[in-house]
Amino acid sequence: MSQVLNDNVHWADLAADKIIRGNNDKDSYTLASGITPSGVVHFGNFREVMTTELVARGLKKRGKKVRFIFSWDDFDTFRKVPANLPKQDELAKFLFQPIVDTPDPFGEHESYAAHHEKSFESQLKKMGIELEPIYQAKKYRAGAYKEQIKETLRKKDIIAGILNKWRSEPLPESWMPVSVYCEKCNRDKTTATAYDGHNKLDYRCDFDDCKHTGTLDLETTSRAKLPWRMDWPMRWSVEKVDFEPGGKDHSSQGGSFTTAKDIVKDVYGWKAPMYLQYDFVSIKGMGGKMSSSKGNLVTVNDVLDVYEPEMVRWIFASYKTNIDFGLSFDLDVIKNYEDFDRLERMAYGLEAGNEKKIAMAKRVYELSQITEAPKEMPFQPAFRHLCNVLQINDLDINRARGFYNNDIKNERDERRFRERAQRAAYWIENSAPDEFKFSLNKDVFKMELTNKETAFLNELNTYLKAEFNNILDDKSLHEKMYEMIHAHELEPMSVFTLLYKKLIGLEKGPKLAGFIRTIGLERVSKLLVP
Ligand SMILES: [Zn+2]
Repeated sequence: MSQVLNDNVHWADLAADKIIRGNNDKDSYTLASGITPSGVVHFGNFREVMTTELVARGLKKRGKKVRFIFSWDDFDTFRKVPANLPKQDELAKFLFQPIVDTPDPFGEHESYAAHHEKSFESQLKKMGIELEPIYQAKKYRAGAYKEQIKETLRKKDIIAGILNKWRSEPLPESWMPVSVYCEKCNRDKTTATAYDGHNKLDYRCDFDDCKHTGTLDLETTSRAKLPWRMDWPMRWSVEKVDFEPGGKDHSSQGGSFTTAKDIVKDVYGWKAPMYLQYDFVSIKGMGGKMSSSKGNLVTVNDVLDVYEPEMVRWIFASYKTNIDFGLSFDLDVIKNYEDFDRLERMAYGLEAGNEKKIAMAKRVYELSQITEAPKEMPFQPAFRHLCNVLQINDLDINRARGFYNNDIKNERDERRFRERAQRAAYWIENSAPDEFKFSLNKDVFKMELTNKETAFLNELNTYLKAEFNNILDDKSLHEKMYEMIHAHELEPMSVFTLLYKKLIGLEKGPKLAGFIRTIGLERVSKLLVP
């Protein structure tokens, strides 16, 4: 998972340095990102925010002030009713109207846009991300951009020239760089027909039977908006943005970043911010239960059901932005926890590694923290083992904690245990593969046994009762069991199957010696009766 550990300088710090160099080392910087709340804001969208946040931390580390603005593009058009939302027919009535005017199908918030905005904002908090949201519908409707809209219309030929460089067919002479929401039907299925160079913009509505024609006063209207290719560079100039990342869809040759770079210079008299393209994030191994209810859209909350917040940050900090990665909900979850624990140990100097790797591990770990990192390394309940402890205890977290009483020494340890145990239990119930699941037998598992097997079980049980607390480690119990198996002239494989049947009623399970020690003498000796 830790893709950057062999580098000398973290990519977020490199980006910060580049921003500083490109701006003559000023004191404070504006970092921007944005999302259109056209539906559930999913985990893939999260990379937009996380990329910006990590660069912000890079700048802060160099003593710079950072303003992190986040645009909710809620004045955009509601283009498509996403599947799996309630009230599909009701929502369909609002197609081509502003997202901010579309009602919340859940009836919880003032609009469809607000529903998705508030939900995402609360998820950002859990990830330790603080930003300044800008609600673009409010901005546009308050006239914040009215001068820019007029300027854009006046310079339409310059803009058409820039866009035409990348178009196979040039824009028609009649093209106007503006969108209008019809005064009668509130839809943007309109065409701007004439601009007088000052405040008057004529338009006609092309929607079905509306056919309204009207004139907007650009000084007072709340119905005009710039299309994306102009909207984006216009806002760079208004907010004086120094850095903004963008997804692949905006980053291709001739894509919106290419044209925005020219438009911001030639139309708005500002310069393009430093830009970082980020790649996609995919999800692997989602349990059927979760994906069917949400139409395969995985949110930050879904990821937080399985991963600690620090781990989610670590994953983003570990991949350079131009590398796509898949986040797993299958068996790889265990490996991810093991990788994270190793990084944490490296960051605290408790795991060997070369100097470069350790320095990078420290930085990645720092970037993964939500609050300041604790002075001493938090307790690390190994995820795989924790899953076993939980299942031995019927997924009861409080009972499972008993196993770790000697390890949990402070509040941070307690938080680590609780957060991790909750996630392990959730993972077992919702997306762990079936072969990973078990529950301890409540009573003696009845089965036909040979004389040799009966004798073996009796001897093992006698040994455990006498020596359980003196067993040094899993390996010594493992060796002791092999000794007994050979003494009774039995086949190891069939004995293991027998023991798993006796303990959990299955033919396979966690590694036996450690498993027996984790279950504890009382219950093991009750179950290993022939
Ligand atoms: Zn209309």
